[in-house]
Amino acid sequence: MEIERPEIASPHEIDVAEASRIEKLRESCQQPIPDPDSWLDEEISRNVLVTTVDYVLDWARSRSIFPLMFGLACCAFEMIGTAASRFDISRFGMDIFRWSPRQADLMIVAGTLTWKMAPAVKLVYDQMAEPKWVIAMGACAISGGTFRESYSVVPGINRIIPVDVYVPGCPPRPEGLIYGIRQIHGKIGKETIKRA
Ligand code: SF4
Repeated sequence: MEIERPEIASPHEIDVAEASRIEKLRESCQQPIPDPDSWLDEEISRNVLVTTVDYVLDWARSRSIFPLMFGLACCAFEMIGTAASRFDISRFGMDIFRWSPRQADLMIVAGTLTWKMAPAVKLVYDQMAEPKWVIAMGACAISGGTFRESYSVVPGINRIIPVDVYVPGCPPRPEGLIYGIRQIHGKIGKETIKRA
């Protein structure tokens, strides 16, 4: 019986086959394989580090608001009550109402704003340093309320200055104002030091 022998390639054929394999591999590897960890650098620079700094800054800022009291009518008494022991806004780091716009970053306008008073409100707002926020407390501050049609009343303080949070009511209770303050905290929490 005759034994079948495998074909033995010549050295030249082996060289040609090897060269062909190498050429195919070279053609399929024209692009470098992406660095599997490259996403990490981008992720850290874009999110982790900045988010952490943002979180700390926003938390510190929202828990150290210096409110500027702008009580103009009956709503002011509810604002004053909010600062008293029963409701105690010191819990939010808002220990003392400021009387100087240079020391305040949250203006609370509580009550009816007249056109005669409007320039003073605008001036005080302009004198506050950035970043700053405004709460319109009560129907009168929001829209002029009951006195909206009066010749002397500003129909909403947003005609004079930008408003961040509106607290409705006539007057709103201290819980309402505290809810508004919490909304301001939420707004501050979304701020970022990142440049757009
Ligand atoms: S909203 Fe009502 S309670 Fe507040 S200032 Fe106006 S009238 Fe007074």
